[in-house]
Amino acid sequence: MSKEKVLITGGAGFLGSHLCDRFIKEGYYVIAMDNLLTGDIANIEHLMGNKDFEFQHHDVSKYVHVSGDLKYILHFASPASPIDYLKMPIQTMKVGSLGTLNCLGLAKDKGARMLIASTSEVYGDPLVHPQNEEYWGNVNPVGPRGVYDEAKRFQEALTMAYHTFHGLETRIVRIFNTFGPRMRLDDGRVLPAFISQALRGENLTAFGDGSQTRSFTYVDDLVEGIYRLLKSDYAQPVNIGNPEEITINEFGEEIIRLTGSKSKIIYQDLPKDDPKQRKPDISLASKVLDWRPKFTRSEGLKPTLEYFQKKVLG
Ligand code: UDP
Repeated sequence: MSKEKVLITGGAGFLGSHLCDRFIKEGYYVIAMDNLLTGDIANIEHLMGNKDFEFQHHDVSKYVHVSGDLKYILHFASPASPIDYLKMPIQTMKVGSLGTLNCLGLAKDKGARMLIASTSEVYGDPLVHPQNEEYWGNVNPVGPRGVYDEAKRFQEALTMAYHTFHGLETRIVRIFNTFGPRMRLDDGRVLPAFISQALRGENLTAFGDGSQTRSFTYVDDLVEGIYRLLKSDYAQPVNIGNPEEITINEFGEEIIRLTGSKSKIIYQDLPKDDPKQRKPDISLASKVLDWRPKFTRSEGLKPTLEYFQKKVLG
């Protein structure tokens, strides 16, 4: 019998490529689709030549076609770091809207179940802490982050409309800050920025006064949560993230300590609308998916640091 087929958009990206690995391991046939705007073939090079894997170089914002049966679609294509979506605002909005529409149309045509990658950014600069799925958020639609936040909010609304109107099987994961090997060194996010600065002996650039908080999830935990959500029968949004909260200052000190660097933390302007705090309430994931993170931040930082050491120091 032929294997069940999964389409992963953004399959050459950080998260997409880890999902490809997981689905190959679970015995599926995987199609990774990516326009390589922020993705990198190097992330899936080890899968090339695998008879159960194929790569399609395609922009999902344009009409999407896949031949034969399709079991699942995971829509992960999108610029996802603040500097990327500031540089590519229109592409970000297109892939969140038109890209999602194309995937939903394909899912409907194939009778496939579709999971979309939503984000903690739907909560904006949150006034509720920690953030649970009931909270509607505090987003500035016309601020610099609006292109990403509103695209993702629209994506959730569109997906829910296909679910209620067409009876499509849909899943929505709200992803909190995630880290691990295959993050892009230059994606501008705090973890690759701090690690590469520390490894190069440069000072770490904290934005604002560094008192803003984030909660960092190791990629393997995220992938496990996504896999469980996809297989569950729960169609409402679910937060997946590690609730261990830390300030950016504390995080900088942790990276300096782990790398043994002599770097100091220096301060730069806080970007507009930068959320002051972020921490997931994961009661729902725990209840409906029996999921909670297994890796502490420091456990996840070990393989991540090794990956960046190879990238930075060669
Ligand atoms: N940040 C920082 N220095 C950097 C990059 C980011 O202090 O070089 C801060 C940023 O202002 C934010 C936090 O780190 O408060 C996390 O930023 P990131 O871009 O990783 O993702 P976000 O959670 O804002 O989407």
